[in-house]
Amino acid sequence: MASSKILLITGVSSGFGRALAQEALAAGHKVVGTVRSAQAKLDFEYLSAGAAFGRVLDVTDCDAINGIVAEIEATVGPVDVLVNNAGYGHEGVMEESPLSEMRRQFEVNVFGAVAMIKAVLPSMRERRRGHILNITSMGGYITMPGITYYCGSKFALEGISEALGKEVKPFGISVTAVAPGSFRTDWAGRSMTRTPRSIADYDRVFDPIRKAREEKSGKQLGDPQKAARAMLAAIAADCPPTHLLLGSDALGLVRDKLFALESEIREWEAVTVSTDG
Ligand code: NAP
Repeated sequence: MASSKILLITGVSSGFGRALAQEALAAGHKVVGTVRSAQAKLDFEYLSAGAAFGRVLDVTDCDAINGIVAEIEATVGPVDVLVNNAGYGHEGVMEESPLSEMRRQFEVNVFGAVAMIKAVLPSMRERRRGHILNITSMGGYITMPGITYYCGSKFALEGISEALGKEVKPFGISVTAVAPGSFRTDWAGRSMTRTPRSIADYDRVFDPIRKAREEKSGKQLGDPQKAARAMLAAIAADCPPTHLLLGSDALGLVRDKLFALESEIREWEAVTVSTDG
């Protein structure tokens, strides 16, 4: 291992967050992990006495975030790497899904992540070093019917990551948007919010999607432990990537999307440039 770092990872109770914490601890790093119950905090700290530090935090509790990060920096040490991992998927046809579900989706996946970033930036900027990883999704590039709010939130986090990276690069701070494909976590199981069906017109497009996702949960192609190792490689890199796809499904689908986008841009190019002057 090149050097021991302090990682702050949100959502370490399961999935990517848990796997990354375990791999980082095994590599000799210290990990502060956020969870949402006292029991989950005990379970997390049990992973490694003196190197795994749990903190109870719901990332939508923006008023609590600055205080918790200040306390972490005072007691554990300055945060070298922030990993905004906490998030969940909302599934539901947009017309059927209340705006409150969209607000909740963005509160967790977007506003929570931004609030965490704002809390660590002053110290990273002062020290002229740091790395922020935002776990987005291939759903931050490609879209599917039935997860419009989720895709919207991950597109937002992709855009925020990329623009922020340009703002903080002069201070020696890197920002990486990590976009996984389908992995075996609790994402499509206990963590997913599913809006009940109400409009029969959407049965044909949406019912097979919901059924397939439920059936595939737990059998996805991606291994979270391997994703964790990939993220550790990005964290160790001298020049970390701005975007990192994880999984061959993400690679194929995102390439198809970029190709289709380029084809459509070319098809409409004459109209596009006709508005100048
Ligand atoms: P997961 O096993 O369900 O883990 C999600 C983690 O986020 C849990 O620790 C959960 O805590 C935490 N969390 C959820 N809402 C939170 C909140 N309001 N405040 C604090 N913590 C919260 O699923 P996962 O797949 O590892 O998800 C991690 C990230 O990967 C998410 O951002 C997800 O969108 C993204 N992702 C997943 C996949 C995939 O296929 N698995 C693909 C692309 C992107 P609790 O245990 O308390 O609920």
